[in-house]
Amino acid sequence: LRAQQKQQEDDATPKQLPKGVVLGPDGKPCRSCTSVSAWFAMANQQTGGKTKSAAAVTPKVSSDCPPDVEQLGRSTWTLLHSMTANYPEQPTVTQQTETKQFIGLFSKMYPCWVCADDFRTWMKQGNEPRVSNREEFGRWMCEAHNAVNEKLGKKSFDCNKWEERWRTGWKD
Ligand code: FAD
Repeated sequence: LRAQQKQQEDDATPKQLPKGVVLGPDGKPCRSCTSVSAWFAMANQQTGGKTKSAAAVTPKVSSDCPPDVEQLGRSTWTLLHSMTANYPEQPTVTQQTETKQFIGLFSKMYPCWVCADDFRTWMKQGNEPRVSNREEFGRWMCEAHNAVNEKLGKKSFDCNKWEERWRTGWKD
């Protein structure tokens, strides 16, 4: 009877979300803001699975699933760095203006809203986009990426190598 009572209490109590699950502005879990392991831990919890920790869950994800925060991030950095790699060495005033506009809009529309918030905050802290030529823009993007790397406790990338990584390929 006690066990039955406990089960009823458990069912009535809203479960705490696993670590790493980020809610969206609508109050629902935000897939683009959450890692796939945290997402699966939540799904597991909701279906009454025994595993509670995100780390203990080994998700099987096929390539046509909606992106999690990491997949979205990797694809986005590929786009952003490739844009800098193809940016003119001597951009017109219009190109510079439009590039700044793009970054401004991107920083509002990026689907991971917590990432977007932090990116806008970083830009406001004296890190406005530098778009006067390809080298400047490429370095600025590298620094932007490093700010996120640092936040996530990852190794910093050597920004002297941004062009080899994203434009010319590695020197032998
Ligand atoms: P990524 O960081 O995606 O990097 C991809 C490749 O880029 C690397 O393999 C490396 O070759 C190269 N690279 C790495 N650093 C640099 C650099 N500084 N300059 C040039 N090339 C580089 N995730 C979160 O969990 N929380 C966040 O708040 C968050 N904010 C983000 C904000 C933005 C604007 C973007 C685009 C992504 C954000 N992400 C965030 C995602 C995160 O940055 C990573 O993309 C994700 O964690 C996957 O990391 P990864 O280790 O596979 O490589």
